[in-house]
Amino acid sequence: MNDHDQIAAPRSAPMSARLEDAIHLLALGIVIFDEKREVVFCNARYREMYGLSAEQVKPGTPTSDLIRHRLKLGLKLQIPPDDYIRQRVGRDVALDTTVQEFTDGRIIAYTVHAMPGGGGMSTHEDVTEREGLNARLKQQYELGREQEEALRVSNFQFDAAINNMTQGLCFFDSDYRLIVCNDRFVEIYNIPADRVRPGMKLTEIVDLRIEAGSFPAMTREEYIRWRSDVAVSNEAKDSIVGLQDGRTIKIRHRPMPGGGWVATHEDITEQRQSELKIEYMAHHDSLTGLANRVLLNARLEEALGRFQGGEMVAVHHLDLDQFKAVNDTFGHPCGDKLLRIVAERLRALVDDNDTIARMGGDEFVIVQAAIADPTEASSLAQRVIDTLSETYEIDGQQAVIGVSIGISIGPGDGSSPDKLLRNADLALYRAKSDGRGTFRFFEPVMDLHMQTRRVMEQDLRNALPAGEFELHYQPVVNLANKEISGFEALIRWHHPSKGLISPADFIPLAEEIGFIVPMGEWVIQQACATAAQWPDGLHVAVNISAIQFRNPGLMQVIVSALSASGLSPTRLEIEITESVLLHNREATLAVLHQLRALGIRIAMDDFGTGYSSLTYLQSFPFDKIKIDRSFVKNITEDSSSLNIVRAVAALANGMGMTATAEGVETAEQLHSIASEGCTEMQGFLFSRPLPAAEIQRQFLAGPGMRNIRGRIVAA
Ligand code: C2E
Ligand code: MG
Ligand code: MG
Repeated sequence: MNDHDQIAAPRSAPMSARLEDAIHLLALGIVIFDEKREVVFCNARYREMYGLSAEQVKPGTPTSDLIRHRLKLGLKLQIPPDDYIRQRVGRDVALDTTVQEFTDGRIIAYTVHAMPGGGGMSTHEDVTEREGLNARLKQQYELGREQEEALRVSNFQFDAAINNMTQGLCFFDSDYRLIVCNDRFVEIYNIPADRVRPGMKLTEIVDLRIEAGSFPAMTREEYIRWRSDVAVSNEAKDSIVGLQDGRTIKIRHRPMPGGGWVATHEDITEQRQSELKIEYMAHHDSLTGLANRVLLNARLEEALGRFQGGEMVAVHHLDLDQFKAVNDTFGHPCGDKLLRIVAERLRALVDDNDTIARMGGDEFVIVQAAIADPTEASSLAQRVIDTLSETYEIDGQQAVIGVSIGISIGPGDGSSPDKLLRNADLALYRAKSDGRGTFRFFEPVMDLHMQTRRVMEQDLRNALPAGEFELHYQPVVNLANKEISGFEALIRWHHPSKGLISPADFIPLAEEIGFIVPMGEWVIQQACATAAQWPDGLHVAVNISAIQFRNPGLMQVIVSALSASGLSPTRLEIEITESVLLHNREATLAVLHQLRALGIRIAMDDFGTGYSSLTYLQSFPFDKIKIDRSFVKNITEDSSSLNIVRAVAALANGMGMTATAEGVETAEQLHSIASEGCTEMQGFLFSRPLPAAEIQRQFLAGPGMRNIRGRIVAA
């Protein structure tokens, strides 16, 4: 206030000239007014600021005029101008600062000071530039704040992102010092979080990991060397590392442009385990855990690949005998258990270098690699047969099976897995047809047999459309009245190049390949059609094999053949062997009962050659038993055959069945079977099987045709 005291001299006390000059030079505009609110003094700066002449602000000018002038210049107001003037001049002078804005953009800080003794002084400072600066500063400050906020948010987001990754992440600089790592990294390696800080060395982290036990199975030095090599190579690298605690970590290493690297660490233990499991499942049999076909092929291929002079590999193809019976009798769960025990027993027999595979069902393969001599293969095969034939104890029940084995030896029998397996299979086929429970080595002739068989198979399929089949008929003679009671239909194949082929040579193959079904259908139709031409009362007997019985269409085929031919069902006889009743007994018996209900007669053929279980005879009321010709053949020399014929005939007679003797070739045989109680005979003695036309000519033409007494006697 002292300054003011000096400057603000009252009107009556003129200022010194020097002071006045100084005041005019001030950057502030100054106006001094008296208590009447009239100008006492104004400096040059003031006039300049508001564009006023000295005349316009001469002493005595009312300050209200000055205010009006400012309004004219564009002073911005919040209230009406008159109110404003009134406000400004109407009140006591007191210290008051306002910032006045003008429409031309100028900003003037305006301060009123009270003066001792009344009146006052106003100062006017053009702060346009300063305010602009301030505003810019403020703007920049705001911008800075915004950027800082944005950075803060993005830092937060980055933090959140890296700490919520499922992978561990760490950045290292070119000095192998940690720049940053996320929570997951620390967690994966069980490192105490408070001991990890930016700037620490890779080796320090390695030490923390060794301490935590989250370290691969290598030494500290090996690990550091490995990581350094990766870092130095400056190339992206993915590695899979197994930790000592059993976990598997996938590390993706990516070099950074200015040196250093970023690495992600992912715990892939579970993924790895399921991969291993899938891989295992793709190569192993789920029931026994043995290798499967895929793995077997790979192992065999590998074994063949690493042959050294004189070495050999043996392929044993095993097929269990009677396994199906165990399955059928005890049920599938028991069958599965048995297969597992078989696998265990096999495992105990082989070497580490050998591979055992389950090929599905009850088939196994052992690859013995390598052997120096085939006797090593035969001795293993024999041990396998002996071991697998031992009794199995399953759920308190006892089961016995056997095994047949075919062996091929590489590279002699084949230098590819396919060839060796195929040849072992051929040898197995031989082992089985040689009576099972045995082993056979592959021989080239087996291949030849197989090829012949394949050709035969093709020929057989062609035979039906080509009309190469024919039925011959063999008379069956009633011994009591010496009359023909009927004929048995027996198939013949006129092969285009091989001539006449007997059924024994193609029926087993036809059964095996399922061709017996269409062929059998043709036989039934043909036999019924032929017999329908014969005089009433003559039977026709048709052989039906077990495979045909498994076909659900059999009943329909028979009914259709009867109705198409018009043959009475009572004139049709079906011959089955015991093997028909071996499988699917209930279903087979049901079909037999249905056939019988139609009036069709059922005969048990070849009795005595199969199981000859009397329960078969009990389970179904057969109309006839045909005693196999092997007994008839020996009846005159061999007392046991005689006894059998006698017993069966007695049994048949006792049960009300016809007893037919097959294959009667001599008068002595006829005499014996007749005296032992057989009621019918069939055989070359009376007639061979003959074509239908020949039967017609020899037996059915002319009067008294069925009385053949003279013929038998003549024979
Ligand atoms: P099977 O049903 O026991 O037929 C009797 C076989 O003994 C016939 O052989 C017949 O020719 C032969 N035979 C008859 N009397 C004598 C004799 O005094 N001495 C000798 N050594 N043999 C005699 P074939 O015709 O070769 O038939 C063999 C087997 O083939 C038949 O035995 C039968 O099981 C089967 N078979 C024949 N035709 C068919 C058919 O159409 N379907 C089916 N599923 N099997 C048939
Ligand atoms: Mg027969
Ligand atoms: Mg027979």
